[in-house]
Amino acid sequence: MDKVKWLQQMVEQSPQDAQAHYWLGKELAENGSLLEAVQSFSTGIACCQDEELRIEIIQELTAVSSRLQQQKIKETVPSSEELLEEGYSEPNMLVDQQTNLQQLKPKLKVIEGNGSNKEVKSVSNTITFEDVAGLEELKKTITLRIISPFFNKGLFAKFKKKSGGGVLLYGPPGCGKTFIARATAGECKANFYPVHITDILDPYIGVSEQNLKDIFDKARFQKPSIMFFDEVDTIGYSRSKSSSHLRGVIDTFLSEMEGIDTSTDEVLVMAATNTPWDIDNALKRPGRFDRLIFVAPPDEKARKQIFQLKLMGRYAEEIDVAALAKKTEFYSGADIENIVEMASENVLEEILTTGNERPLNTNDLMHALSNQQASTLDWLRTAKNYVKYSNQSGLYNDIEKYLQKHSRSI
Ligand code: ADP
Repeated sequence: MDKVKWLQQMVEQSPQDAQAHYWLGKELAENGSLLEAVQSFSTGIACCQDEELRIEIIQELTAVSSRLQQQKIKETVPSSEELLEEGYSEPNMLVDQQTNLQQLKPKLKVIEGNGSNKEVKSVSNTITFEDVAGLEELKKTITLRIISPFFNKGLFAKFKKKSGGGVLLYGPPGCGKTFIARATAGECKANFYPVHITDILDPYIGVSEQNLKDIFDKARFQKPSIMFFDEVDTIGYSRSKSSSHLRGVIDTFLSEMEGIDTSTDEVLVMAATNTPWDIDNALKRPGRFDRLIFVAPPDEKARKQIFQLKLMGRYAEEIDVAALAKKTEFYSGADIENIVEMASENVLEEILTTGNERPLNTNDLMHALSNQQASTLDWLRTAKNYVKYSNQSGLYNDIEKYLQKHSRSI
């Protein structure tokens, strides 16, 4: 069997395996199937949990996108020999090539037709802060810094304070950044537009930028709305490290953001990242993502609540959630969700083999817990290095405080 087919089978068997998508993308790119490679890398990014792997996929994706662009330019722009044959004289050639390039865009739009498929829809949003366990300080901060300005436009105008700029949530994966962003939209009764890199990126020239503009226009039109850019590091990946293709997207992103005045547009941009250190500094300037909020792993009280929330409605005995919360320091909300899922699956399997129906109990959860590692520790150790070596601007003060509080265990 050829390698691509074999990798395709692997991807079919484990669609959430980012590594498999990565290898398939690489193989496809090597074979010249660039469009398929872009698709494979994009899917890989969407399901990738590993920071290093994600950076590698982004690099491959940008490389393959720019190869694709160059290929398209070659296909559409006649070569210099062809131009000479058609009677173009040398001095005019550059100008004519440029004109040709300008004409390229409408032509490409007709061919691709995919851009319009990448529609970003507002999702129905019934989550509010009540559904988010713990994170009390964060809720207070969001109320003060996001929700109040959103509702008190007049007051902001009186003080000539422009309430633009975005909010960047950062922290280890699975700790509720997306969840609390959705809840914020719920609290503001705003439309919620989740945007992922795959909704924007398109291999054809100018289409990614246009996709991004369309999303901003839509959010402005459907105000009040909150746009949420998940894994914003993939868009705002340090400009020095990204390809020219991504650079255009970053520039569009910046100018769209600067054009927003939350008080009049009633549009708020929120974003999340697990790797704040990868984000272009240009994105962190005033008027852009000037409010950075750390979403820490849930504390004991929050973990207890998350267990309660995730166990709600399940066939279970009275569960000792306090004991479970005690044993799950540095576990993320998603880890806890996973423990509950695993324990339920195990009990179901047991019932199916023995035929004896019984409710889920504390021991089942303890057993599942012993098979699940605390996933935030790796992130916290990486963050520790950034705090130590690159916190001159005080950007990571919140992480620093958290690390100091838990210094003995990290
Ligand atoms: P992140 O965006 O930080 O990677 P998510 O917001 O996607 O993480 O969280 C993953 C899942 O974990 C959510 O769908 C939610 O069910 C659960 N979760 C995480 N934190 C909390 C929390 N504080 N309260 C309730 N559920 C949570």
